[in-house]
Amino acid sequence: MEKRLISYRCNIITPTKEGRLLTLEDHIINVQDGKIQSIVPYAEHQGEWNDYRDCIALPGFIDLHAHVSQFHVKGAHEPALLPWLQKHVFPAEKHSKNPDYARNISSLFFAETIRKATSFSVIYTAPFREAADAAFEVASQMEIKAKIGMSLMDTNSPAYLMHNKDYALSNSIELDEKWTEPMLGHIFSPRFALSCSPELMHEIGKYAQAKGSFIQTHLSENPEEIRQVIKAFGQDSYTEVYRNLGILTNKTILGHAIHLSDDELDTIKLSGAAIAHCPDSNFFLKSGVFPLSRIKEKGIPFALGSDVAAGTSLFMPYHAKMMNYRQDNTLVSAQEMLFRITLRSAEILHLDTRIGSIESGKDADISFFKLPPELDFGENALSPFFFASDIFKLKQFLIDGKERL
Ligand SMILES: [Zn+2]
Repeated sequence: MEKRLISYRCNIITPTKEGRLLTLEDHIINVQDGKIQSIVPYAEHQGEWNDYRDCIALPGFIDLHAHVSQFHVKGAHEPALLPWLQKHVFPAEKHSKNPDYARNISSLFFAETIRKATSFSVIYTAPFREAADAAFEVASQMEIKAKIGMSLMDTNSPAYLMHNKDYALSNSIELDEKWTEPMLGHIFSPRFALSCSPELMHEIGKYAQAKGSFIQTHLSENPEEIRQVIKAFGQDSYTEVYRNLGILTNKTILGHAIHLSDDELDTIKLSGAAIAHCPDSNFFLKSGVFPLSRIKEKGIPFALGSDVAAGTSLFMPYHAKMMNYRQDNTLVSAQEMLFRITLRSAEILHLDTRIGSIESGKDADISFFKLPPELDFGENALSPFFFASDIFKLKQFLIDGKERL
């Protein structure tokens, strides 16, 4: 961590906790001890400064849903979830039982998150302790912020991935006890209802509720998946399965959540659980359209995930653009796009006092994107940033004030 005070002269765009979009032209961000010490207009600054006048400073992006062990099968297509898992994902995840392989793929994954200005990721690993240990070890060495969980699969899965309930429980509880830091912590990760026994999910729910631990899983991504879940569990809906097993808490993050009845949305709202919306993945696997306006009307918190490898990129602004493109009739503003890859994600992680915006006292997780010379700085620069992002080049990226490029 950098102890010296370092000053960055730049233009800032950030969401604020009051729900506003703040645009600050020609300001100084003072960074010390990994934190944003102050933000002042340049005219009031005395002393040296680093020249980022040609840049927009944005908060580090947050990816609420990704699979590290799938990193090498990005783009391998199959137009439906279950065949895609069988053909591409499960065979790829098998390799992460080898610790060297798992460390290598984790290093490549996290290096890419840095290049894409993501400062916090919420991650599933392959269903092996080796894969989870490697991801934690590499994240710790690379000073990456993340929640990481081993995918749990104790039933109805290929033999080369499947573990038993005791393995799933004992290893994930050990990980939960070992990795307790807010910025590098464990998240229980029952993969989805089809790969987990009711007994396992019940135990996870009970433990996580008692300890206040985070849980992530997938919900109602694909119609055939839903049909199989309802048949296997004999419940009225997919959401009821999770609710009855104690999986829905105010620290649960549900991936996808596409095909949901109003009753299911009410159940989710009541539980306090949040949704990781993964529009690129939904498009890729032809899963369906996220009911964005209904979910907003219900007031269910949601933010964006890359869902690599069904998502094709770790660049979160691209996923924000996909959120917009996937909606035919619902307006998605550039301000909202920024919010759902930064501050909203931080709120869902209960970390919004530390990350998610550029404000005094928060962690200095800041990206500096070069503003193309033909564009003027201001709120209007945000729209081209999302829709024509390749004309903005990442010039520097800080995590805890440490320059990462
Ligand atoms: Zn996923």
